[in-house]
Order: sequence, then C-alpha cells, then structure tokens
Amino acid sequence: MAENSKEAKLRRKIARCAEKLGMNLFGVADAERWKQYGETEQAFFPPVIWPWCRTVIVMGVQIFLPMIETTPSAVYSELYNTTNRLLDESAYRIANLLNGLGFRAFFFPRDGYGDISALVEKPEAAFSQVLAGRYAGLGTIGFNHTLLTPEYGPRVRLVSVISDVNIEPDEVMKKDLCLRCGVCGKSCPMGAFSAGEAGSRAAADMDKRKCALYHQRLKNEFRYPCGVCVKVCPVGKDRKIYGRSSVTEEGIAHCRSFGSKI
Ligand code: SF4
Ligand code: SF4
Repeated sequence: MAENSKEAKLRRKIARCAEKLGMNLFGVADAERWKQYGETEQAFFPPVIWPWCRTVIVMGVQIFLPMIETTPSAVYSELYNTTNRLLDESAYRIANLLNGLGFRAFFFPRDGYGDISALVEKPEAAFSQVLAGRYAGLGTIGFNHTLLTPEYGPRVRLVSVISDVNIEPDEVMKKDLCLRCGVCGKSCPMGAFSAGEAGSRAAADMDKRKCALYHQRLKNEFRYPCGVCVKVCPVGKDRKIYGRSSVTEEGIAHCRSFGSKI
C-alpha cells in the first residue's frame, strides 16, 4: 500500500487518534488471520460472527509495574478499573470516528463476561483480546496465556475495534518473546499452570477454573484481580525503567536453571 494512498492516510489518522487518547499500543489485524492460523474454533472467527468484518484494530495500555507489584491489592484493583475505562472509552471513540467516516465499526469490550462467577461456571472468553493482539502484530503468546509485548511484557490491557474499514494490517510477530523460564507457573498461588513437554513452545496447560475461583475470592475481598503471573514475567522494557532486569533472586535462579540469560 503506497504511503500516500487513501488507505495509508486513513490508517495514520486512526493511529494518531489512538495515540491522542492515551493508547500505548496500536496494531491492525486482517480479519482473515483467525481462519488462516486456525488457533481457535471457527465460531470465534470475527468474520463468522460479523460477516462484513475486514479489520480488527487492537489497542493497549500499560499496567504500571510498581502498581501490579502490590497485587493482590486495592491499588492494583483501581488501576485495573482505570485501564478498563480508558480502553473502552478510547475504543468507543475510534469506532465513532470510523462510523463518522462511513464505515461499520463497534468495539468489543476488553472483558465481556459480566461477572467473575460466570467464568467459574464457564471459563471461556467470548472474544480473545490476546489472540487479536497477536494477529495485530503487538506480541506473542506466552507460557502464561497472556500477550507478551516487547514494550511491557504481559503488563498490558487490550481492547479491539471490529470494522469493515480497509487499512494495511501489521505483520504478525515471528520471534517468540517468551523465555520459557517457568517463573509465571511457579509463582501462581493456585498452581493453575502445568508444564507442557520440555522444550515445547506451546503455552502451558492452564486450569482456568482454578484461576477464576481465586479471582472470585479476591473480588469478595475488594482486591481483584490477581495478575501474579503477569507481575513476575521478566519480559518487557518497562522493567528497566524501574531498575528491574528480573524479578527476585529466586526467580533469577529459576530462569537460569532453564538456560535463560536474564
Ligand atoms: S492470574 Fe493469578 S491465579 Fe490466575 S493463573 Fe495468573 S497467577 Fe495464577
Ligand atoms: S514468566 Fe517466563 S515462561 Fe512465563 S510468560 Fe514470562 S517469559 Fe514466558
């Protein structure tokens, strides 16, 4: 797509708007990628749900490391709520911008399960923001089932705008960012992760119900969500800002035992 084409100009306009709204990350996925990669059931492919959908715009905001380091806490809980509001409001505005230009568009809220008790019964998201982020070139999926990004590791929250706008998609990231250090699994208070085969690049087996049950308890204590597996991940340039090249001495030793150079 030529730099001065109508589509390229439109993409820049949307990206600029997202930046002004305070979004840290912006990426564009071709809606056909869900089918192309076949990593989820067909029922979850955006064009199957919305046949007019051509593009999924994914935006993200960072989770400040010193705040998630207090988890589980009221401080992190407030931050989580703030990121949710910021994401949904920004996605609303981007969808509105596209509507104003004559395109079909709406946003899929970053959660969308109503209440954590619904996840205990059926721990499955209606729309995976993580997968959307991967297809929009923002990062790769880690052992802990989150989107790992070069900038913030897994310390990002995401939202998606579904549209029939035709703009250049980003490349899907090829280099796997996960170090397979296992620190996330080892740190989970519920032991929700079980290691896959040694040396496997796949995400861990995850008992999502265990994770949801713990979240239910934290919600009752007003210190929801958990996010320990996000807090401890050594990936992300954000760690350097706070002088944290890694997590703890124990974490470093554990990473090194897996051959990691952190
Ligand atoms: S969010 Fe907490 S309980 Fe859930 S998998 Fe991560 S560390 Fe475990
Ligand atoms: S903590 Fe280690 S294994 Fe877990 S997602 Fe991060 S890099 Fe991958």
